[in-house]
Amino acid sequence: MGNSVRSLSWANWRIVYNAVILPILTYAAPVWFSGQAGLLRQLCTAQNAAVWHIAGAFSTTPINPLHQLMGIMPIDLRLQLLIKNASLRLYRIPTSSQLAARVPGPWGPHIRGLIPLPILPPRRPYHSSLLSLTANLPNTPHIDLLAAPPWNLDFAHPCFVANHRIRHNDDRKIWANAIKDLTGKPDHLTIFAQGSKANHNCDDNQMPATCIAVSFSNHTEIEHSSRTLGTSATAFDADLRSLVSAAHLAQNHLNRSPTKQITILSPSPLAIQAISNLRPHAGQFHSREFCSTLTQIFSVFRNAKVHLDWCPSRPKLVGIKRCIKLALNNAANPLPPNLHEPHTIAFQKATAKELALAAWQARWHNADRHSQVYLALPNPPAGKLPPAIQGAMGGSRHACTTLVRFIAGHAFIGEYYARFHPRKPTGCPECGTDPQTVAHVICHCPRFARARAAHLILIAPDLSLSTLFSSKEGSKALLEFLEVTKACFKPLEEPPDPG
Ligand SMILES: [Zn+2]
Repeated sequence: MGNSVRSLSWANWRIVYNAVILPILTYAAPVWFSGQAGLLRQLCTAQNAAVWHIAGAFSTTPINPLHQLMGIMPIDLRLQLLIKNASLRLYRIPTSSQLAARVPGPWGPHIRGLIPLPILPPRRPYHSSLLSLTANLPNTPHIDLLAAPPWNLDFAHPCFVANHRIRHNDDRKIWANAIKDLTGKPDHLTIFAQGSKANHNCDDNQMPATCIAVSFSNHTEIEHSSRTLGTSATAFDADLRSLVSAAHLAQNHLNRSPTKQITILSPSPLAIQAISNLRPHAGQFHSREFCSTLTQIFSVFRNAKVHLDWCPSRPKLVGIKRCIKLALNNAANPLPPNLHEPHTIAFQKATAKELALAAWQARWHNADRHSQVYLALPNPPAGKLPPAIQGAMGGSRHACTTLVRFIAGHAFIGEYYARFHPRKPTGCPECGTDPQTVAHVICHCPRFARARAAHLILIAPDLSLSTLFSSKEGSKALLEFLEVTKACFKPLEEPPDPG
């Protein structure tokens, strides 16, 4: 599909790797992988070859920094992440399933009458990582695949309508004014629901998730609800939970004074989409409570209509202003001692990713960072591409691969020949300086003086390699320099990459 001279770009290669190659390498890994060193070695060999190919670097280039440059997680960490996420899938299987009956954990093995498996049991006891992980399933209720609220089935006269569309520019102003009018209507209940996750009291690093819902009618606040979900909940959990609180406020209000029209407003389009969706998603627990509250409302108040819509998150709206104030008050309070921390799937997934990233960062901290390639990697991996690679996106394949070789110090350059191919000439073919180094080509070689002045001096007046390698602007300038000069491009008479 290509080589280091012409083919897909880094970004497209990464898509191919993640979508095609990685699923093949890790197919059914949660079942067969439990840390076997031999299997891990084979997978490492395969992934390393892919990373060298994607980067267009020599196979002598150290592989760990190259993983970070290309934004590809080391395969052992990737496997652990996959296994953790796969154990969360078990959480969605029906309680009556034969699989649930066979795994340890919250729902099994309770049922009797297991159907014999069509395969022979293994000769020796076998413990896959997945089985050991099922013991750590979330403690929120089991996800029910088959729930469907009755009111959702009346398509002709919907009593619940949700719209998550974000308005922009003039539409946004018109919608904000419409919301102001709604808040003032006497026969209309408007509820603002907003979740937040922030550290307002600044004394600790705890970020509690807070869910706020405030109801208004006739320009007057009717009621509010504020609740702390604890530090383990995500912002998405908080947004969903605030919508559940909003449904409870609606129910309370209807019990006191029947109102036909209720509008619930949330600044989160994602939460609006998810809250009435009972398919198995990470926040289905909240969706179920929201839907069962609506079912109670519609079965008692037959004429009630609930409209769920997006609203801009701007403090000029009285409801949002009140939500922000309540969230600040709530965050300043200490967490209640009897707080039941939710252990949601969204949180579990986020934690699994954070843990994998933390392990990767620990490797960066422990690495010997004296080599030139770490000039482009001044910070530990953070889940996105380093600036040197971000800045060079969109260049030609040949220039991009040459840039990576320059950063790694393994390039078609005298310094590299001196180390790996002692028979080859090591001097600069343009001016004779011996040995020809990366710094010589970029900073000193008289042949490239004009291109240097045109592209590099503006970004790094002192031509320091660390400035050029560690910033987006620097790598963009270097790429332009390489496109113009074609310095140290792959020699034509040399078919295979050395090393
Ligand atoms: Zn030279």
